[in-house]
Amino acid sequence: MSTLQEKLRRIDQIRGGRPGFGDILDFFEQVFIARDAVLQKLAVADPYQDGHGSAQRLREGFPLLEKRHFQYDAAALADYFSTLLDIVARRNPGGAAAIRLQSDAAGGLLKNLPPGDIVKELAPFGEGRDLMLFLIKESMRPWLEQYAGLLSPKVGEEQWHEGCCPVCGGFPCFAEIFGQENQRRLFCQDCGASWQFPRLQCPFCGTGEHEKLEYFKPDAAPEYRVMLCRACKRYLKTADFREFSDALVPEVEHPATLHLDIIARERGYKTEDVLTRLML
Ligand SMILES: [Zn+2]
Ligand SMILES: [Zn+2]
Repeated sequence: MSTLQEKLRRIDQIRGGRPGFGDILDFFEQVFIARDAVLQKLAVADPYQDGHGSAQRLREGFPLLEKRHFQYDAAALADYFSTLLDIVARRNPGGAAAIRLQSDAAGGLLKNLPPGDIVKELAPFGEGRDLMLFLIKESMRPWLEQYAGLLSPKVGEEQWHEGCCPVCGGFPCFAEIFGQENQRRLFCQDCGASWQFPRLQCPFCGTGEHEKLEYFKPDAAPEYRVMLCRACKRYLKTADFREFSDALVPEVEHPATLHLDIIARERGYKTEDVLTRLML
């Protein structure tokens, strides 16, 4: 997981070269700083501290963190939610005001995380559903990141073969090609954990038929490419920094490459990623 300093350094680096992304990068800079302040005060307990059970769960194809494991300080989380809402209000005052009008529904949601039936629980927010989903996910993020730090080391390379996150079950939002043998690492959009996954397989539908998968490379940014899956019509942005001097910071690369999401969408491909829906 990248440190706050690494994220801020990467934001500064990108800001110079991609002036169109100033607004989005400013927003994430504020979120990362606020998140780090929460993270510094946190310590979650390892749900597998007796050393048992984790290997079996992975063998059965289940992510390690169960709903009942997710323990959090509801007051601290509500504080962070409110800080995030202030940050959102600077960019999107109307959206933030609409969420504030639903304070009862928001309060109920925050007391029982992760949400059970997310579609039902987001219904009161109407047009603001995506924004609320983003806020809920980001509010949980400091706790999820701590769980990812504890649980990721329990996931051996040979133990997990799924396209979703071995820690929290989230979908990948970004990938990286690394090493001499072109291995691929996926990054979870929810907890930030990463795991290896075969390069020529779609993490969303599992197809390994090579003719169903293609990559396109934008001319202006050769360090990125996008995997397109013709079987399920999903796509995944991917970085290949092996020949570049920059260091990869997946959480920064994702918002800084939203132009690639636009290209993928125009070609008829889709994503479950809430950030993309919110920003584009
Ligand atoms: Zn995860
Ligand atoms: Zn697929």
